[in-house]
Amino acid sequence: MARVLVVEDDQFVRSALIRHLTEAAHTVRSVGTALEALREVAQVGFDVVILDLGLPDLDGGEALKMLRGITDVPVIIATARDDETEIVRLLNDGADDYLTKPFSVEHLSARMTAVLRRSRATAPGAEPSSPAIRVGGLCVDPLRRRAQLDGCALDLTRREFDLLAFLAGRPGVVVARRELLAEVWQQSYGDDQTIDVHLSWLRRKLGETAARPRYLHTLRGVGVKLEPPQ
Ligand code: CA
Repeated sequence: MARVLVVEDDQFVRSALIRHLTEAAHTVRSVGTALEALREVAQVGFDVVILDLGLPDLDGGEALKMLRGITDVPVIIATARDDETEIVRLLNDGADDYLTKPFSVEHLSARMTAVLRRSRATAPGAEPSSPAIRVGGLCVDPLRRRAQLDGCALDLTRREFDLLAFLAGRPGVVVARRELLAEVWQQSYGDDQTIDVHLSWLRRKLGETAARPRYLHTLRGVGVKLEPPQ
């Protein structure tokens, strides 16, 4: 999925981030100071940097400026300070997005997905670096718009593919219907039935049912998640 650099000096927050990102199939490296971050970024290619603003060695704004001096990798700043003026200044100084601590895994995933989508869409002539997404026996290749289950190609409609790819991109994360409508259907409102119908078609093609789910799990009133069979 994505190569992520976590810059965070708080050991607790750092371990939690590493765990969640690794579970979501990202490759993660982490450092605890701004100077280490600069060294990492200079040596290793990342798709996104999550930058804590309260670092022991450099002020967050300084760290961001120095990062921007050497790379245009997307940067999501994580701040405990809910200070609008500062956030606006940092966004103007080159941050791509921000998260206010404490933030949920879902929130982080959503921000990362958005930032990665923007950066991959704008990379000059870039072959998007995202390889196929693998969840259990499921393999989804967003670039070629192909999906396989246990090595057999799935014959999916455009919408079914979009739905599957979106869910497979955040395995184990419960996605709200509202978010599916917005992201897959590009609608800000709509009928839950639309989603249910597509989910049931997708289920059938994956060889499962709502009563006996393998990959697709519906949480009544909450949303849907895709995860490898237990
Ligand atoms: Ca900190």
